Amino acid sequence: MPAPADSFSQTATDKAGRKAVGRFAPSPSGRMHLGNVYTAVMSWLSARSRGGRWILRIEDLDPQRSKPEYARMIEEDLLWLGLEWDEGGLENYGPNGPYLQSLRSEVYAEGLRRLEEAGLTYRCRCRRADILATQAPHESDGRVIYKGTCRPPRLGGTAEPFPGDIPAATRLYVPDRTITFTDRLCGEQSVNLARHCGDFILRRADGAWAYQLAVVMDDALMGVTEVVRGNDLLLSAAQQLYLYELLGFPAPEFAHLPLICNEQGVRLSKRDSAMSMEALRATLTPSQLLGRVARLAGLQPDDSPTTLSELIGSYGRDENYGQLPVLSPLP
Ligand code: GLU
Repeated sequence: MPAPADSFSQTATDKAGRKAVGRFAPSPSGRMHLGNVYTAVMSWLSARSRGGRWILRIEDLDPQRSKPEYARMIEEDLLWLGLEWDEGGLENYGPNGPYLQSLRSEVYAEGLRRLEEAGLTYRCRCRRADILATQAPHESDGRVIYKGTCRPPRLGGTAEPFPGDIPAATRLYVPDRTITFTDRLCGEQSVNLARHCGDFILRRADGAWAYQLAVVMDDALMGVTEVVRGNDLLLSAAQQLYLYELLGFPAPEFAHLPLICNEQGVRLSKRDSAMSMEALRATLTPSQLLGRVARLAGLQPDDSPTTLSELIGSYGRDENYGQLPVLSPLP
């Protein structure tokens, strides 16, 4: 679904001199809800206000949960809102495809090979249940920090398979090192890889590629200069920055948006049917929905209907890669 790439006269460049490229990377595991729309609009505005390109990448790595019909609905909902992409989508339009992660195994294999050859990986046959069983209670907040059961005493060389073809995951060895970065919305971040992340999986025992490796290979090879997404992935940014460094790719800039919550104060999920695009489209026009998103983003004081071109105006052109607008409190 091509859209005019440079509808704005100026295109901002990042520190490495690259033209602005943003992306929206939904997992097609359900219809979009208000939270996904908010992320899509903000990443679109950020890229477009810099005269940049916007990519739609379909993150369908999980074959159990991903369905092509959801990807089609996501595309249809984006177009209903007027959010056109320059590259990507189910048509795989553009020079950096394919844009469906399920079609990019070779790209991930190449990334993994480079990390293996650098001697930074090892094979791990711990099962998730074993790992969870060894978690200290304070770590049971959903994050699983691997304790290093399979970590060899000394790293180096390509990891040998376990005898008898025992299925094993591949993990990245992480050092006791602190990654610091400035998020455009969350400010200065400082994450110790060993303490806050632990050795993380690059490829699962069943052969599935892990999100962290896939997203870095994709964003790097698609020339993405700015990643705008929900702040549930703030910690992941540190893991991803470490991978950028190991793989020798220039890193993008990050902006992690607050998550939109339901009336109970719980992050919106596919189960909040009142906030799904199906329900929203039944009662709102695209301009009304954009008005609501604009109010959530602090771009206007109320929900009054608006258009994407008006929002670009209030968002402002930003040649210097400045801040996203200040976000208003969420309902
Ligand atoms: N696919 C992820 C999601 O839908 C987003 C990953 C990213 O933006 O890096 O939540």
